[in-house]
Amino acid sequence: MTGSSVGAARTPRAALAELLAGNRRFVSGQPVHGHDVTAAAAVASGDQQPYAVLLGCIDSRVPLEAIFDQTFGSICVIRTGAHVLDRAVCGSIEYVVGQLGVPLVMVLGHERCGAVASAVDTLRTGDRPGGSLAYLVDQIAPAVAEVGAEDPRAHPMAVRRHVLRTVAALRVDHLLAGPVADGRVDVVGALYELATGEVTLLDR
Ligand SMILES: [Zn+2]
Repeated sequence: MTGSSVGAARTPRAALAELLAGNRRFVSGQPVHGHDVTAAAAVASGDQQPYAVLLGCIDSRVPLEAIFDQTFGSICVIRTGAHVLDRAVCGSIEYVVGQLGVPLVMVLGHERCGAVASAVDTLRTGDRPGGSLAYLVDQIAPAVAEVGAEDPRAHPMAVRRHVLRTVAALRVDHLLAGPVADGRVDVVGALYELATGEVTLLDR
């Protein structure tokens, strides 16, 4: 099973290849793990040896293990609205990289992201949401401002920009900057296309 070489992908390049191969299996309708979501498969995973940590959105249409055809024990997944960072998220990623030796962090944005749409609306109308939703919007707003809130394509452009901003923030994270600088760890950004299921890497 090509997708179950848990523990094999110990370099950023190998980990990325493994992830993208899983997405190709998903897109082609030939997942090797799609049928294997059982308690028996969970038990068989034994100790975890994940090779990547994925930070994605809470959107119900973007289940990360499924779209990368991964099984138990292979990837760590963190999901927040529009993959917004906070200290808990950063601490979780630092744990996975520092304690579990994971060489790859992927930030995955997606089309038609509702959280990004809220940030675009806020910048266009000045009507800021209340509660903790304001925190999410505030974290996304700089990406919207950079692309221009009034631009008709503000939403799709802000989705990309927000991924790249999140990647940039993680690359200078207190505990990640060293491993990133010496090549032991990479942080990459990618986009998920709802219509096709394809994941595309973004250039930094
Ligand atoms: Zn979203």
